[in-house]
Amino acid sequence: MHTVTLIPGDGIGPEITRAVQDIFTAAQVPVQWEEQNAGQTTFDQSGELIPQSLIDSLERTRVALKGPITTPVGKGFRSINVTLRQQFDLYQNVRPACTTEGIASRYSGVNLVLFRENTEGLYSGLEMFDEHHGIGDSIARVSVVGARKICRAAFAYAAKHGRKKVTLAHKANILKVAGKIMLDAAQEAAREFPQIQYEDKIIDNMCMQLVTKPEQFDVIVTTNLFGDILSDLCAGLVGGLGVVAGANIGDDMAIFEAVHGSAPDIAGKGIANPTALLRSALLMLEHLGEKEAMTRIENALNETLKHKEQCTGDLGGSASTQQFAQNVINNLK
Ligand code: NAD
Repeated sequence: MHTVTLIPGDGIGPEITRAVQDIFTAAQVPVQWEEQNAGQTTFDQSGELIPQSLIDSLERTRVALKGPITTPVGKGFRSINVTLRQQFDLYQNVRPACTTEGIASRYSGVNLVLFRENTEGLYSGLEMFDEHHGIGDSIARVSVVGARKICRAAFAYAAKHGRKKVTLAHKANILKVAGKIMLDAAQEAAREFPQIQYEDKIIDNMCMQLVTKPEQFDVIVTTNLFGDILSDLCAGLVGGLGVVAGANIGDDMAIFEAVHGSAPDIAGKGIANPTALLRSALLMLEHLGEKEAMTRIENALNETLKHKEQCTGDLGGSASTQQFAQNVINNLK
């Protein structure tokens, strides 16, 4: 039995979390949940954004499933997601994007995995405002160690999962210092994994290539800001934010999360699509070594997605979140 910290989050978080829990219970997955919340709801109730009890739970379980958390724009508290990623050195943000039968997309044959560096770059938190001169700085810090770790992780993943190619997306032509560190780190990792093809592309060209011929990409590795943007672009290639999974992985801890936000516009209505969180939970099962349970639920999910009427409104159906979960349960073999 694996103990997993469960962070339901804000907005639609508790609704989609419940759906995933119901599916896991029905599939008799050997996981027990240790529920601990964080975010706006927790702050309103207890005055704490990230309670110590959550940190203690993460220290114990080393693995979590997390719903979306509301972060006020341009004011208030620092993103809890960013805080947790940095506190526990969850340096890999892993985002698979794959076209799936039943999920509408302009593309077919997309099957890629994006590795975004998750703790450095423009999101290092090195920001200052010089009021006297009216100048703001947000520093994109890239360390040699950090660049090596994320590039190596992308190649190691490619080798383990039978992937053929790794593409580094960068801007080393302009960012001669930070960009060059990534370029060097990727070349070093490529030498360590000679069986994996390696190429690099400048980020602007990468965006154009992704929207014109996404099927040419396999594993992509990049820095924090580029990865943040590219990962949502990749989600758009395969049906949008409601259907893609995400994982924040360190050397000895991992937090799996839906990549979409707390969707305040539909929160409490019982119509949110739980697919993204469920797919993140499936990545978690792979991480826990529960491959059989993962495949069984994945097959049931894919079967459900083939039938529009069994899906939620965003996928063209009319099922509620709970009905969708029940349909996945009914499709379990
Ligand atoms: P959002 O992803 O919450 O919503 C964008 C649109 O997609 C909305 O119309 C929403 O209804 C829809 N949507 C999102 N998830 C859905 C789902 N599962 N099923 C059906 N429809 C879905 O993005 P936003 O409105 O920009 O952000 C809202 C809040 O979420 C903000 O406070 C933001 O900071 C936060 N956020 C958190 C995370 C996270 O915790 N990982 C990620 C992104 C945004």
